[in-house]
Amino acid sequence: MTKNVRIGKTEVYSTPIGLGTNAVGGHNLFPNLNDDTGKEIVRVALTNGITLLDTAFAYGMGRSEELIGEVLKDFDRDQVVIATKAAHDPANGGAFNNTPEFLIHSVDEALRRLQTDYIDIFYIHFPDETTPKNEAVAALQKLKEAGKIKAIGVSNFSLSQIKEANQEGYVDIVEDEYSLIHREAEIELFPYLKENQISFVPYFPLASGLLTGKYEQGVIFPPEDLRSKKPDFQGERFKTIIDKVSQLKLIAADYNTSVAAIVVAWYIKNPFVDVVIPGAKKPEQVRNNVKALTVHLTAEDYQRIDSLFS
Ligand code: NAP
Repeated sequence: MTKNVRIGKTEVYSTPIGLGTNAVGGHNLFPNLNDDTGKEIVRVALTNGITLLDTAFAYGMGRSEELIGEVLKDFDRDQVVIATKAAHDPANGGAFNNTPEFLIHSVDEALRRLQTDYIDIFYIHFPDETTPKNEAVAALQKLKEAGKIKAIGVSNFSLSQIKEANQEGYVDIVEDEYSLIHREAEIELFPYLKENQISFVPYFPLASGLLTGKYEQGVIFPPEDLRSKKPDFQGERFKTIIDKVSQLKLIAADYNTSVAAIVVAWYIKNPFVDVVIPGAKKPEQVRNNVKALTVHLTAEDYQRIDSLFS
């Protein structure tokens, strides 16, 4: 039986693995996505022990939320934790907007696309330059009191912006980049979050597939693939990461599982991570990643993996 994780001080509880859905309807982010495959990915997640779905308006400019809304008709809404985000203002060329009016409108629009009457976790997706962060979050607190959202999150905020947003203690959860190969959050962010009982969700946990063990040196990504420009996938850095990941293959073999499942299991055991949300482009990737729920890393192996990448 998987232990559920409490989000901040709220009454929202999630399995420790969620599903990242930027490739579900995220046609603006990835080429050649298929909406039916996207819906199947969500279905496979929900029928294999995942409860949290991490989406955003920016994934397909509402399309990801619409597809999730269609799938959710076949599931018990109360058993699913929907996390969505907004900040990109379509009326202003997609510029970030954190004004109370925009956030209130965004929540209503997301509810309509998701075909539901509440959102479990609503994040401000990116900070804008002008709105005081405590005012932005105060608007979300009113929506929380009205029952439209159950938990308040911020994403891609600097630590000082998180502190400004959390002046009244309203922030429940933070989502930021963090992975075995991007550990900056450990230095200042994690201690602050622990001290303030704020949950943490890392994005890019598989480093866009790099931590699954499927890459060898010499791989070339087409120019439309964002990985063709990501520093982790270039030159010496790419080689160093691949060498380390190849050592994970030995640990995965000991547990009779995949590298992806071992990596996801490392996040589950990490005391600073509340919910890990690997993304997927194929249903079998979800089936593979969810196996992490049955991998119980020993303290020694957890430390071995930690040291390998630190
Ligand atoms: P990720 O989880 O690091 O990597 C996911 C990608 O890895 C998949 O799309 C798939 O891509 C590959 N993959 C997944 N499982 C695999 C497996 N078992 N075997 C082999 N390959 C596998 O990256 P992400 O999906 O971009 O990030 C996770 C989630 O975080 C997103 O879906 C989104 O919900 C969220 N996110 C949030 C923000 C934010 O600003 N808040 C930013 C980025 C992401 P291929 O098949 O193409 O290799």
